[in-house]
Amino acid sequence: MEDPNQIKLSVVVPVYNEEENVQILHSKIDAVLKSIGIPYEILFIDDGSNDGTFRILQSIYRSSERTKIISFRRNFGQSAAMAAGFGAARGSIIVAMDGDLQNDPGDIPRLLQKLDEGYDVVSGWRKDRKDKMLLRKIPSWIANRLICSVTDVRLHDTGCSLKAFRREVIERIRLYGELHRFIPALARVEGARITEVEVTHHSRRFGTSKYNLTRTFRVLMDLTSLNIFLKYLKNPLRFFGKLGILFGFLGSLGILFVAFQAIFKKIPQSEFNVLITLVFLLWVLGSQFFFFGFVASLIVKTGDRRGGYLTSHYYATKGDR
Ligand code: UDP
Ligand code: MG
Repeated sequence: MEDPNQIKLSVVVPVYNEEENVQILHSKIDAVLKSIGIPYEILFIDDGSNDGTFRILQSIYRSSERTKIISFRRNFGQSAAMAAGFGAARGSIIVAMDGDLQNDPGDIPRLLQKLDEGYDVVSGWRKDRKDKMLLRKIPSWIANRLICSVTDVRLHDTGCSLKAFRREVIERIRLYGELHRFIPALARVEGARITEVEVTHHSRRFGTSKYNLTRTFRVLMDLTSLNIFLKYLKNPLRFFGKLGILFGFLGSLGILFVAFQAIFKKIPQSEFNVLITLVFLLWVLGSQFFFFGFVASLIVKTGDRRGGYLTSHYYATKGDR
């Protein structure tokens, strides 16, 4: 029997110095979730705020039993805060959103509807985005194009925080750095079905944006590592094997060269020794790359499949007939 009180939906909100926003946001989310009528919880993660955010969250916590708070001792960043929220969330569906009232809780029902159509990730698309053109929209547009070209995720707005996920997807993703922007890409690797819906976006009324252009650089760095990660994740042997073959080939060219020199040019013993050592060095490096690729592919294949693979049907566990 399914427990009717079992939490179905967890809304995860990272906040950093949002004292004027949290109370209003909480009431809005609470009202929307009540109207949906499924058991829910709201998780606020205070990312080391140094204003009154935590105090206000505590009073919300006391008056609303559906609300939980996690408080970081210092500012660890939005990705870390989201990861902590995801880790604590108990719902089978998890919605993430910003804590600055720029995302609209009123969009949550539409995200859930879309999930119900059979998607694993539904991402918000801020079609009419209310941010500064030069500092935010243009860098974000470029970042989005880069992300789309690097990963095979086709979304208009990967940077929108308002997203809904099935729990199984979130469980397979590990967030660090600025990786929360790439959740769809990471989810894609796991085989998730991803789509987007248009959402409302408001300009910031209270508090200030926590980001500036330096974030764009951090995002770019994470994108670079993500690129390598995605390319070779499935088959590291392909990457390291190529290097191995290259070095092995160079070594073989080297030995031909050394043989030619030794036979026809009669090079001195000392020179021969140096050259032959170089040849062996290349061969050893080549085989090391190969071996490393092999070990890496073993790790990829056997290691860290938290919760196994994403499946679309659960006959094996539910015993449906
Ligand atoms: N945030 C956070 N930790 C940080 C920076 C931001 O938890 O180190 C939160 C912030 O409080 C907000 C969300 O992440 O709820 C998005 O931040 P912000 O609104 O500053 O970003 P922008 O909308 O300007 O991209
Ligand atoms: Mg914002």
